[in-house]
Parts: sequence; C-alpha cells; structure tokens
Amino acid sequence: MTYSATKTYIALGSNIEPSLNIPRCLQLLREIPHSAVTVESSWYRTSPWGFSEQADFINLVVGLATALSARALLSATQDIERRLARSRGRENGPRTIDLDILLFGSTILDTDDLTIPHPGLLLRDFMLIPLIEIAPETTYPGQHRPVRDLTEHIRYRQILEKYPSGSL
Ligand code: ADP
Ligand code: MG
Repeated sequence: MTYSATKTYIALGSNIEPSLNIPRCLQLLREIPHSAVTVESSWYRTSPWGFSEQADFINLVVGLATALSARALLSATQDIERRLARSRGRENGPRTIDLDILLFGSTILDTDDLTIPHPGLLLRDFMLIPLIEIAPETTYPGQHRPVRDLTEHIRYRQILEKYPSGSL
C-alpha cells in the first residue's frame, strides 16, 4: 500500500447461517476501498447472551489496514450489514451479521454513533480472545499494556469451541 494505513480490528458475529454469511462478509470486507484485510482469527462458536433462546453464534476478529477514517469505516461496515440483509429486530436477537469496530489504531472516540475502543471488548471473551489470537501485542489505547494482558476484565464467557478458519 502506498498510503498511510491505520491498523484496525473488526469483530464479526453471526447466528443465522454463519457458514454462509461469514465467508460472504469476509469477501465484502476485502472489497472495502483503500483497505486490506491482513489477518483473520479462528472461528469461535459461542453461546448467545442476553436473549438466549436462539442459535449459537460464530464470532471471529479480522485485522484491516485502512486509509479510511473511523467514521468512513463505520459507514462501510454498516453498508455490509445492510447488504447481508441483517434484520434489525430484537435487541441481542438473531442476526445475519454484526460488525463491530474494536480498535482503530490508537484512536479513542466517544460519540453518539461510534465508541472506540468498543465498550464490550475487554468484557466479552468472544471479542478479546480472537483479538489476542491474531494481535496479542496490540496496545489498548489509554493503557500502556498489550491486549494479551487484559483478560482479567472478562465478564461474559461465551466461547464453547474454536475451529480453524472456514472449517465449518
Ligand atoms: P450491538 O453491536 O451492540 O449488538 P448494533 O450492532 O445494532 O448493536 O449497533 C448499534 C449502534 O452501535 C450502531 O448504530 C453504531 O452506530 C453504534 N456503535 C458505536 N460504537 C460502535 C463500534 N465501535 N462499532 C460498531 N458500531 C458502533
Ligand atoms: Mg454492532
């Protein structure tokens, strides 16, 4: 890449036909302009939280190098959610795909529609563990510690099983 790129990490989650929708989503992420997917975590099967009478989720995290702003990246990920026909139904209910921006370089942001780092990152094993798998030395903004040292804050332990990428 000839432009200066920010390292960003995006969490994917799906519990509607994930073996179909995760690969579709990965392909659309690869097509985001001025960006490149650099790394993908394993796939983690997780039990749903909140409203629990629904199918297990597949969660993973990808690294993306991008020349976009954080806000432009959010527009791009929301466009992918729409294209994959995510139903905005019940909160924490079934979803084709959920894309959450976990980290955006060393950016700290708290606006109405975008909070970075993602407020759930240190609390949810299904966000933090895949991130640690692919980028253990990444510094958590505002703390001078790598993410691999930040597991003590995990409150939601949903991970049931780990699969090699794309093996489902
Ligand atoms: P959730 O991910 O909490 O289940 P949604 O995916 O429906 O819920 O997201 C709700 C809103 O969260 C989005 O409209 C978006 O503007 C906002 N949001 C705030 N911070 C982020 C972030 N870091 N990544 C993705 N969305 C975010
Ligand atoms: Mg979301």
